[in-house]
Amino acid sequence: MKTGRQFNFDLFEAAVTSSAADQKEKTSSDSATNQPQLPSSQRLQVMFDEYNLKFFEGKLPRVKIAYSNRLLGAGLYYPRRQEIKIGVKYHCLFPEEIEDTLKHEMIHIIHPRHDRAFKSMAQRLGASLKARSHPSLRGRYRYLYYCPNCQREYPRRKRLRMASCGVCSKGGKFDPKFKLISRKNGRNEA
Ligand SMILES: [Zn+2]
Ligand SMILES: [Zn+2]
Repeated sequence: MKTGRQFNFDLFEAAVTSSAADQKEKTSSDSATNQPQLPSSQRLQVMFDEYNLKFFEGKLPRVKIAYSNRLLGAGLYYPRRQEIKIGVKYHCLFPEEIEDTLKHEMIHIIHPRHDRAFKSMAQRLGASLKARSHPSLRGRYRYLYYCPNCQREYPRRKRLRMASCGVCSKGGKFDPKFKLISRKNGRNEA
């Protein structure tokens, strides 16, 4: 079972900044079996297959789908791992949005950014462009960064100054080519 820890390893920072606070973020198991109002991971996989057939002619690769207790947004797609993470906290607040989130993240398998192609597909599938925000989710991370190369997102509580994407940077060192870019603050973007 994957844990949030792995997430931290994917980000490399220049030696000048400290990421102690980020590294200390609690990791938790990704099991959501104690959340009766949410579908099981197996059920999500079945839904994935259904949507894949219905909306993508079955052409999407069968990615992993897992719950994350750590994620504050609705969901994230990790292209390199080929994995969709579904936020437990978010969907305990908005359980009715889980199909929407899954569709949204499935579109990211094809379209990493929220560009025009993404939007037209989202419209066709009836998927939202943005997740809702809620007081209990807000403020947990104030900064959302993304890698200009792989589009991977890095939510952080603290501002990062010299951080590069750990997936793209070679040799575990800060690489200015893959310096993370800030999105608008505090947005729980899916
Ligand atoms: Zn990257
Ligand atoms: Zn998105």
